[in-house]
Amino acid sequence: MARKGGSLPKDVAEHLKNLFDKLPYEVAIHAFSDRRHPEMREAVETFVSMFKDLSRKVRVMHRDVADPEAAHFHVDRTPMLLFCPDRYRVRYLGLPLGEEGRTLVETILHMGTATDGLSDQSRKVLSRLEGERRIKVFVSATCPYCPQQAVNAVKAAVARPQAVSVDIVDIEFNPDLADAYEAFSVPQVVANEVLIAQGAQPEELFMASLVKLEPQTIFIPDSDAEEVETDLVIVGGGPAGLTAGIYAVRSGLRAAVVERGNLGGQVATTPMVENYPGLSRVPGKTLVDIMVSHALEYVEIFPNEEVVEVRPNGRLEVVTTRRRFTARAVLLATGASYRRLGVPGEDRLAGRGVSYCSTCDGPLYRGKKAVVVGGGNSAVTEALHLHHIGVEVALVHRRDSLRAQEHLVKALEGAEIPVLWNTEVQEIVGGRFVEAVLLKNNKTGETFTRETDAVFVAIGYVAETTLAKKLGLPLTPDGFVRHDGSHRTAIPGVYTAGDVEGGYRQIVTATAAGAAAAMTIFEDLSNPYWTREHSAAG
Ligand code: NAP
Repeated sequence: MARKGGSLPKDVAEHLKNLFDKLPYEVAIHAFSDRRHPEMREAVETFVSMFKDLSRKVRVMHRDVADPEAAHFHVDRTPMLLFCPDRYRVRYLGLPLGEEGRTLVETILHMGTATDGLSDQSRKVLSRLEGERRIKVFVSATCPYCPQQAVNAVKAAVARPQAVSVDIVDIEFNPDLADAYEAFSVPQVVANEVLIAQGAQPEELFMASLVKLEPQTIFIPDSDAEEVETDLVIVGGGPAGLTAGIYAVRSGLRAAVVERGNLGGQVATTPMVENYPGLSRVPGKTLVDIMVSHALEYVEIFPNEEVVEVRPNGRLEVVTTRRRFTARAVLLATGASYRRLGVPGEDRLAGRGVSYCSTCDGPLYRGKKAVVVGGGNSAVTEALHLHHIGVEVALVHRRDSLRAQEHLVKALEGAEIPVLWNTEVQEIVGGRFVEAVLLKNNKTGETFTRETDAVFVAIGYVAETTLAKKLGLPLTPDGFVRHDGSHRTAIPGVYTAGDVEGGYRQIVTATAAGAAAAMTIFEDLSNPYWTREHSAAG
C-alpha cells in the first residue's frame, strides 16, 4: 500500500480519508522502531508519514523501543505496531505493506467503529470461548489470502478484548518466529501455541478453530429452534448415523442427526483408515469431513447436543440438552466408546498422560516415551502412528500373539516396535502426570515398573447403550442392542444401526447398517398397516 517517499496515491488517500473521517472513535497506532537500526527507523517513519494529515481520526505515533511506552506495552521486537493498546491487544510484528494494507485498513475500521463485524453464527461460536486465546497469525506482504485470516483474528480480539490477544507476524520481518513455528506457508494461525489453521478460512470456521483449539474444516450452522418436528431423529453422527441421514432424506423422509461428541465417532480419532472402498489409505478425520460434507447436503445436523431421553408416546418425543424433537421414528446409532482398563491411576491420570486417542494426543509426546496397551487393529495402528510421529513407543499385550491383521503385524515388526508379550497393566503411576506403568508378566508372575510419559489404551470398545437401557430395550449378553436383523428393536419406531448392534465393527459395515436401517424405516413409515398399528399420530 505504501509508496516510496511515504505518500499514498491521491485517489487512495481520498478514499481512506472519507472512510476514516466518519469513524466514531479515534484509532491510535503506536509504531515502534529502534534508533540503533536507522534503515528500519526510516521504513517506520515512511509508514507513519502516510497517515500525517490523512484523517484526524487516525493518529499514528512513531516511538522508539527505548521509550517508556515500549516497556509498558511489552514491545519486545521492532518494527511493531500496537493498535489502540488501551482498548485491545492487537500487535503487528513488522509493517503492513503490500497485501497487508487490507489488514491495516480493516483493523482501523473495526477499532474505529468498535464493532467486530461478525456474522451471527460466528458470534454464537465465539460466545462459547472459555479462557484466554493468544493468537499468532503468520502473514507475508505478498500473500493475497493472509489478510482474511489476520482480519478474522482482529475481529475476535475486538469482540472479546479481555480474552483474545493477537500478534500478526510478518514472516519476512520475523524469520526467527517463522522458523520456530514452522510457518513456511502462510497464512498460518497458532493459538495458545497450538496450530489451529493453515490457509485462509471463512470467518465461522476460524472462530470454531479458535474456540476448539484445533483445525476445523466444516462449519455446521447452529439452530435456535426449541421444537423441531421431523420424521426421523438419528442419535449419533458416526458413519452409521450420517449414512442413515443421507438415505432417509433421499427416500423422502425428513431427518435430523443429533451428535453429542465428535462427528464421525471413532473414525474421527483414527489416525489412518485403510481400505475403505475407494480409498486405500485416508486419515480418519479426512474421511469424516468427506462424510459430514456429504451428509450436510441432505440432512440437518445438530452437533454438541446430547439426547437425554426418548419418550415413546405415540409420536416419539426426543429430548436433547438444547431442544425437543417430535418424530415418527428414532434410530439409535450411538456407536461404542473406548473400553477402559479399570486399573488404579487410569481415571486420575486421564488427560495427564493416559489417552485413548493417539491422533489427538500423540504429538504431545514427540521425543518422549509411551506405551500402547492392546493387541488388536487399533493398538497396532496407534503404535505405528506414534512411532511415525517420533514417539518412542512399546506395545503391551496380555497374550503371546496379536489379533491384528497380518499386514499391520508386519508393519509393526518392520518398524521394530518392541512388544511386551503376556503382560498386563496393573497400575498407572504418577503424581500430576503419568510417570510409569506397573506391569505384570502373567506367565511368570513377575511384576516390574516401566517408565513412560504416556499410556495409550486401545483395548476395544463397549457399546454405548445408555439410551437403549433407559428405553428398556433388551441387550445381547455382549452388551449390544438386540434387533430383528432389519434394525427394528423391541419398541416400534425405535431402530438401531452400527456398532451399538455389535457385528464386525468396520466403517463399511456401519455405513451399510445405516443405509439398511434408513430403508427399513422408510418402508415401515410408508406402510399404512405398520403406521396405523404402531403410531398414534400415524
Ligand atoms: P479388538 O479387536 O476387540 O481388540 C482389543 C484388544 O485389546 C485385544 O487384543 C484384547 O486382548 C485387548 N484387551 C481387551 N480388554 C483388555 C484388557 N482389559 N486389558 C488388556 N487388554 C485387553 O479391538 P480394536 O483393536 O479396538 O478393534 C475394534 C474393531 O475395529 C475390530 O473389529 C477391528 O478389526 C476394527 N478396526 C479395524 C481397523 C482397520 O484398519 N481395518 C483399525 C482399527 C480397528 P485379547 O486379544 O487377549 O482379547
